[in-house]
Amino acid sequence: MSTANSVSLDRYEVWFLTGSQHLYGEDVLKQVAAQSREIADALNADAPVKLVWKPVLTDADAIRRTALEANAADHVIGVTAWMHTFSPAKMWIQGLDALRKPLLHLHTQANVELPWEDIDFDFMNLNQAAHGDREFGYIQARLGVPRKTVVGHVSNPEVRRQVGIWQRAAAGWAAVRGLKLTRFGDNMRNVAVTEGDKTEAELRLGVSVNTWSVNELADAVHAAAEADVDALVAEYLDLYDVAPELRPGAPRHDSLRYGARIELGLRSFLEANGSAAFTTSFEDLGALRQLPGLAVQRLMADGYGFGAEGDWKTAILVRAAKVMGAGLPGGASLMEDYTYHLVPGAEKILGAHMLEVCPSLTISKPRLEIHPLGIGGREDPVRLVFDTDPGAGVVVALSDMRDRFRLVANAVDVVELDAPLPNLPVARALWSPKPDFATSAAAWLTAGAAHHTVLSTAVGVEAFEDFAEMAQTELLTIGEGTTIGQFKKEIRWNAAYYRLAGGL
Ligand code: MN
Repeated sequence: MSTANSVSLDRYEVWFLTGSQHLYGEDVLKQVAAQSREIADALNADAPVKLVWKPVLTDADAIRRTALEANAADHVIGVTAWMHTFSPAKMWIQGLDALRKPLLHLHTQANVELPWEDIDFDFMNLNQAAHGDREFGYIQARLGVPRKTVVGHVSNPEVRRQVGIWQRAAAGWAAVRGLKLTRFGDNMRNVAVTEGDKTEAELRLGVSVNTWSVNELADAVHAAAEADVDALVAEYLDLYDVAPELRPGAPRHDSLRYGARIELGLRSFLEANGSAAFTTSFEDLGALRQLPGLAVQRLMADGYGFGAEGDWKTAILVRAAKVMGAGLPGGASLMEDYTYHLVPGAEKILGAHMLEVCPSLTISKPRLEIHPLGIGGREDPVRLVFDTDPGAGVVVALSDMRDRFRLVANAVDVVELDAPLPNLPVARALWSPKPDFATSAAAWLTAGAAHHTVLSTAVGVEAFEDFAEMAQTELLTIGEGTTIGQFKKEIRWNAAYYRLAGGL
């Protein structure tokens, strides 16, 4: 895919920077270069994003120029830095001050074991990341550089896992920076949490949020060619378990064709806009005959971010999660906390939406059905119906708290349904939140987190922690160890911190 909605990580690079100095002489610097290449190669063996080794940095000018080059290259989504030897950190001040890309500080060394028998002072001079990286940590802390610190030898799978998650978060952040988000109509009337400061979103998150009349979309939908509708319907018949009443020749086949028409129009409109995320509103359907359901579900499955009822903030999160989870098992979707199973000790949340849940949440074959929708006042919409596959996941919401955006992430376990839901005509997910239902829900409400979320079963809380660090955006996490008392204090501390950190 070369279109705006691509989730491919192949187009991205992270640069691997190694710090040293001239003091040690050419022979040692050659060893530093060779060993840092080995570190980069070891990470590249299973890193989701290509790590590009850069020549060893030994002076302030080279460091500053490298930072400026990284800033200027759109495909460079971050830098990883390691001080193999001692790299006096005043050399790094201008470079770190200029750097606008995410930074991972890898605190590692070339060897695993101390060579007890052979160690001499030459070895000590070459392998001194234990204090070289502390010097680097100091200057990063002093300058307040946003970063992730990963500690350990690259042969340790846990080290590579953390590096990989950070790379995925950096890819999500790169996809958000520069995202063009298309809204069809405004927010659902009178809803508070889906509102937000679109101008501030462009500054803080790099997302351009703009609105088009839904009738411009309707024009594109009604302009779709019959042959294209035929081809898309054939694809539906191949991919899904299509309800008999929707099949060719059956009484409601025209509704399925209209669903295909919506997909064609929506896709062409977004491609023409270079847009990888969008919103719709059931209150503003113009000349559209159905609320877009199937089309939205399929576009999300292709990597588009989506928010319902004009919710552009959740559309951003869905797009970020799509890119962060590229190639992993599981998926990501708009989700909404709908209703509860409140049996003590077995509490669960049933999440769904009117129509728009992404089929990436299951590997089963969805059913393609048509049912009435008691809202929106249009014809019955076609939609995919399925149960989300069980497994670990995270729900994340984005709220506008007036002086800042707030992310809230809750680790959850998606579970099997206790019993089938034969009368529920929409896709759904059932989960139990960590640390327990009551703590999770109380924390969520205390944080003012939204009812719309992205549910990701491909990446977890850690990816969003890295993402929030890159975005310099508040993140409250709810998971094992969360207590309401501590959570309330964190919110109060954050209110002060983010006001101070925001400055004038
Ligand atoms: Mn909703």
